[in-house]
Amino acid sequence: MPHSPEATNSRPAGSDLLAQLGQTTHQTEFYSPVPDGYVRGRHKYVVVLGTVMSGLGKGVFSSSMAKMLKDKGLSVAPIKMEGYLNIDSGTLNPFRHGEVFVLDDGTECDMDLGTYERMLDQDLTRRNFITSGQLYTEVLDRERQGGYLGRDVQMIPHVTGEVKRKLRELALTGGPDGGPVDVVFVEVGGTVGDYENGYYIEALRELAFEEGEHSACFVALTYIIEPPALGEQKSKAAQLGIRALMEVGIQPHIIACRASSPITETVRQKIAMYSNVPMSRVFSLHDRESIYTIPDDMRIAGLDREVLSIVHLHDHVDAATEDASRERWRSFIRKLTKKRTHKATIAITGKYMQVRDAYASIRKALAHCGAHLDADLDVRWIETSDITRQSVADQLRDIHGVITPGGFGMRGVEGKIACVNHCRIQRVPYLGICLGFQTAVIEFARNVVGIEPAGSTEFEPNCPEPVISELPEQKKIEGLGGTMRLGAQDVLLTSDTLAAFLYDGAPTVRGRFRHRYEVDPRYIERLEEAGLIFSGRHPQHPIMQILELPLEQHPYFVAAQFHPELTSRPLAPQPMFMGLVAAAIQRANPDLETEQVSSRWLRAEPQHT
Ligand code: GLN
Repeated sequence: MPHSPEATNSRPAGSDLLAQLGQTTHQTEFYSPVPDGYVRGRHKYVVVLGTVMSGLGKGVFSSSMAKMLKDKGLSVAPIKMEGYLNIDSGTLNPFRHGEVFVLDDGTECDMDLGTYERMLDQDLTRRNFITSGQLYTEVLDRERQGGYLGRDVQMIPHVTGEVKRKLRELALTGGPDGGPVDVVFVEVGGTVGDYENGYYIEALRELAFEEGEHSACFVALTYIIEPPALGEQKSKAAQLGIRALMEVGIQPHIIACRASSPITETVRQKIAMYSNVPMSRVFSLHDRESIYTIPDDMRIAGLDREVLSIVHLHDHVDAATEDASRERWRSFIRKLTKKRTHKATIAITGKYMQVRDAYASIRKALAHCGAHLDADLDVRWIETSDITRQSVADQLRDIHGVITPGGFGMRGVEGKIACVNHCRIQRVPYLGICLGFQTAVIEFARNVVGIEPAGSTEFEPNCPEPVISELPEQKKIEGLGGTMRLGAQDVLLTSDTLAAFLYDGAPTVRGRFRHRYEVDPRYIERLEEAGLIFSGRHPQHPIMQILELPLEQHPYFVAAQFHPELTSRPLAPQPMFMGLVAAAIQRANPDLETEQVSSRWLRAEPQHT
């Protein structure tokens, strides 16, 4: 629950001016809409801004800080603010931006939201992600409705006003139950000095002023260069980056220095001196083995104490909650960092192999399972555009498990079908995801049912045997943005199947979808008669959502029309991934177990916390 505002005698700074806020009349220059029920000064804002360069891991750092506070019993809500004009990330190419992450409510967003969900073990919604495109659309719509009362609509105060409105709305409703939160964590995309995020930064400066002292904590994430030719760390670029922030009126409270190795005392001194930030608030955020160790490492370095002091939240810490959460997390870290007993090689057969971020959630899901099943996983990236029926055996030699990830378009599809075929016949553990589910159906239709020209209308609009075809409701939609079947849906599991076993007998589970095509219902019967098991379906419609082969035929052949990787969490690894990894470990060590999918391994851990 949020805390009462600070004592009435310490009214938020500038509160005399603020009495006028939110009134869009011609008498005032202010436009700072405040949602009904919002009490200024009651919620805190921690803002993470990047300097020097992008790609420093603002999301990782911000989510680690949010986790530290959540562990103390405070309620938190993160938000990522993107400068680009796209309405969402749905139309972005994974080559350029990494994977498109999908939330329960169907929001297609930046992969950082995945980092927040995993770190905080908290489902997010569209309120946790905004883009300039969304904001401008809202501002323009409001203008057309006469919402600005005859004023010329400007970046300041109107667009910045909308930013502040969004942040305050999130503070009021961003809790898991739709209730208020104690602390909003704001991550601004890009770097300080970019044109497109300048108005976000201005809005945050205004917000901090309006909310009053001790309401906001600005964190500058910067980068300390260590040119190999010099062999020493240089802080000038970081200093200039921080200066750029100060030039727009923001004095950072905390500075976190990304670097390849721990930052030296000299660098910390220089950063502190040039930026008015005490040494105790300059932190080294050097590379480490796993991002999951950051919350604990930062706690040891004292970051939590500093943040609590800045936003005056020391009194609200619940020590018992903190001890329990910390211990749960530490036991995961112990598994993550210990020397592992087992080994297995997993191939990911996709088409964005040069950009590992295109499959970030799959890598994370595998990392969770590797830790829980005590296995070192060697992940091989195999470009399916280069795979043929002739070369597949060679390319998948010594592979103990295969994941065919989601994808769009024709390129690489025949290579994926060749991979499925190899895995089915050679009994290599297989997990198909979305397009990997569809290619499994096509392969089975062609080679088991005997429908030779089986295909998908995605790749061949006039396909004579479209075992995969466009969803009826998608056919009516034109354009590409936000037009897929998106977000979480129920999946009804068939009892006595591998899927039911993996999900511990649950009758229904939720999966997050992002697709336009599905199994054409006209083929379901023929596929089933030939031995394919559809073990997960839509509860009302004939939409096939999980498939598998009988365990007597294959140790582990499972595919999902949804994206299981999106919901794997460090303390609750995703069951389909756990099954694949367990089966791969067994293939790598045939003497280890006689059972096909070891119930002992999979049940050693509670699957859901
Ligand atoms: N291209 C396929 C479809 O639209 C699969 C999508 C995916 O893999 N995410 O249905």
